[in-house]
Amino acid sequence: MNQLSLANGFNSADIQPVKLGSKPPSPAYLDKRVTKSQRENKRTRSQRARERLATKEHLARLAVGLGEVELAEKIDRCHSRLSVLTCGRHIARIIPNFTCEFRLCPDCGRRRSRRLQNKYLPMMNGFMLHNKVTPVHLVLTQTHRKESRKQSAKRIRDAFTKLQRREFWKKHFKGGTWSLEFAKDKNGFHHTHLHIVGFRRTFFAVELLRGEWLAVTGDSHVLNLKPILDLAAGLREVVKYVSKPLDIRRFGAADLKEFLGLKNMRMFGTFGEFRDFCKDFEPSDNDGAAVGELESLARDLVEGCACPQCNQPLFDLRMSAKELPQFYEQMESSPPGEVRGS
Ligand SMILES: [Zn+2]
Ligand SMILES: [Zn+2]
Repeated sequence: MNQLSLANGFNSADIQPVKLGSKPPSPAYLDKRVTKSQRENKRTRSQRARERLATKEHLARLAVGLGEVELAEKIDRCHSRLSVLTCGRHIARIIPNFTCEFRLCPDCGRRRSRRLQNKYLPMMNGFMLHNKVTPVHLVLTQTHRKESRKQSAKRIRDAFTKLQRREFWKKHFKGGTWSLEFAKDKNGFHHTHLHIVGFRRTFFAVELLRGEWLAVTGDSHVLNLKPILDLAAGLREVVKYVSKPLDIRRFGAADLKEFLGLKNMRMFGTFGEFRDFCKDFEPSDNDGAAVGELESLARDLVEGCACPQCNQPLFDLRMSAKELPQFYEQMESSPPGEVRGS
């Protein structure tokens, strides 16, 4: 309650872009990103399922072009046959025939990001219960340079390590999680962002943080900071880059080749006191393991069980991945609430 009103009170101060010296920051880019992600959230499930199919076809074609036939076959097979547990109106659970576990596969990425959410949300809730902190979403950016994806990722992570050693950071942050997002500008230069869910101890003026970031990077001061009012949504926003580290539709053969060389690059991690907290965390009843419970509830559902949303019996529908978007469409066009509550 206190934290909420605190966060609300400083909301506008946090978001205001602050000009530093003669070089104005370019928040326009980040602002555009916000609307882009809002647009993405507005897409229907059928549209998103169609996009996942198209992305996988594109990836498989690129893999064939590179002679990675085995990888292409795995992507093709992944989620190609589905067992859909449904009441006809809602989908309670989808069980795929096979999962490729390829890092750029959108179906496998979704599962991976759900796993991360299930694992970290209870720990974040627990951490907040034990500490007087406010969660914020911080995006750190760096200048675009002609460098490899690996160099770009190392540059921003090294700068973040330096930032964490500084007194300012230690005074104001108690740890959190980070994830990497990759993009390329129109010149083909990498620009890598670091998305952080940070636990803020006390409020500070954002321009001070800009100065700190400039001090450790030498040439970057563009960042975006906003309070997180809904922890689950905030975490989802950040782990989404683990499942979708880049825009794959604009991905060429050379990009895939480079990505295949990055096998062991970490895309997500914890830092600071939150990291230590996660090591010995054991969930208790009041640490709010809600997401985990829901997930295990879905895992227990079988044919004949009641649909969690409308209580109608569930049946098992077999279909191919190509039929799934249309199935979502049928559900989207049926009037909501007709079966609900019966
Ligand atoms: Zn997959
Ligand atoms: Zn239902």
